[in-house]
Amino acid sequence: MKQSKRKSIQSQVGELLAEHNVTSAPVPVERIAKALGAQLRFSPLDDELSGMVYVKDGTPIIGVNALHHPNRQRFTIAHECGHLVCHRRAITKEIHVDKSFTTMLMRDSNSATGEDEMEVEANLFAAELLMPASFLALSLKEYPIDIDDEAAITALARKYKVSAAAMRFRLGNLFA
Ligand SMILES: [Zn+2]
Repeated sequence: MKQSKRKSIQSQVGELLAEHNVTSAPVPVERIAKALGAQLRFSPLDDELSGMVYVKDGTPIIGVNALHHPNRQRFTIAHECGHLVCHRRAITKEIHVDKSFTTMLMRDSNSATGEDEMEVEANLFAAELLMPASFLALSLKEYPIDIDDEAAITALARKYKVSAAAMRFRLGNLFA
């Protein structure tokens, strides 16, 4: 991803958080999705499906797999909000379906093109939204943790209502 794109996603998320007076974790992601005009629909889906997003008659619809862990649902909602903010034209043209994000999270963003690039952007949006760098800096100032300390990462992830894997990846990206 280009540095300029990264910066623009970071500032879009920062504005969104400021606009809704969100200053601490956990970020109320459902409230933010609704503020973006989206309707949330939770329904049981196949396990490999995380969710989907599309625009119908001008209204964005975010579908979430109701069978997934609440933390994963939060990541899905944040990811779909990313598509809504960054890729509105694409999701108006056709429904966008998301499978597991795990492999995508780990993929090198430099090699991404087209569809992949949209995923990388939506994942960055989600990480910025659920684990804002400024919030994390404050958390770590209060309670410094070691990147290899699994228990500490799990506790921090619980506070932010994200998976430990997502938190570990985020901390690695930001501070390693
Ligand atoms: Zn996606």
